[in-house]
Amino acid sequence: KKMSRKFCVGGNWKMNGDQKSIAELCKVLTAGPLDPNAEVYVGVPAPYLIYVRSLLPSSINVAAQNCYKVEKGAFTGEISPAIIKDTGASWVILGHSERRQIFKESDELIAEKVEHALAAGLKVVACIGETLEERESDKTQEVVARQMCAIAQKVKDWTNVVIAYEPVWAIGTGKTATPEQAQEVHAYLRQWLTENISKEVSATLRIQYGGSVTGANAKDLAKKPDIDGFLVGGASLKPEFVQIVNARQ
Ligand code: PGA
Repeated sequence: KKMSRKFCVGGNWKMNGDQKSIAELCKVLTAGPLDPNAEVYVGVPAPYLIYVRSLLPSSINVAAQNCYKVEKGAFTGEISPAIIKDTGASWVILGHSERRQIFKESDELIAEKVEHALAAGLKVVACIGETLEERESDKTQEVVARQMCAIAQKVKDWTNVVIAYEPVWAIGTGKTATPEQAQEVHAYLRQWLTENISKEVSATLRIQYGGSVTGANAKDLAKKPDIDGFLVGGASLKPEFVQIVNARQ
């Protein structure tokens, strides 16, 4: 069943880079070579979406890192899925823990964004994950179930959705979840999907792992049956990202 889910690796550049460093990184990604059996996207700061789209081959997808929940209008500073699509980007990352924690985005707002981005024809990476405090008080399952519940209320067709499970304690900390720790949550998410959505969605929805993924640890994580790829922060700014994309080779 795992093989029916295409391996999917995303880079999350966050608020990093300038035209020069981005051009260099795009050269490295273009040279690859990247596993043709992997689906790849890079999450780019919004002002560089058009630039990055122009520098990469069409086999590498470009993603925005956030969007708003309406098509257009008086929302100073926001970008809509329609604007993202118009740049040539085709994906959007939503609900990243930095959006949730620093910018106080709620489960409900994130779910509304997911709904609207899908309706506008974007592919969506919806991020979930528990904090260290939640994990240590045994609330991991409860938290990811709550986050999934909010998203599920707004999603009818899961075809264009990828879930990124990113334990907050592993993001940018160098403290990667062990393959076993990650697999345990991914398996729980599959069970949750079977019970709350359908067997079909549970079997086909890709679940990426994110949090201190590196060229060195990606291969072991990628062997786990319910890990279908990665969302990569720090290492996505380096040539190492190529190795991570190729973790299944
Ligand atoms: P990291 O970030 O790989 O630097 O831990 C992951 C993420 O925030 O998506």
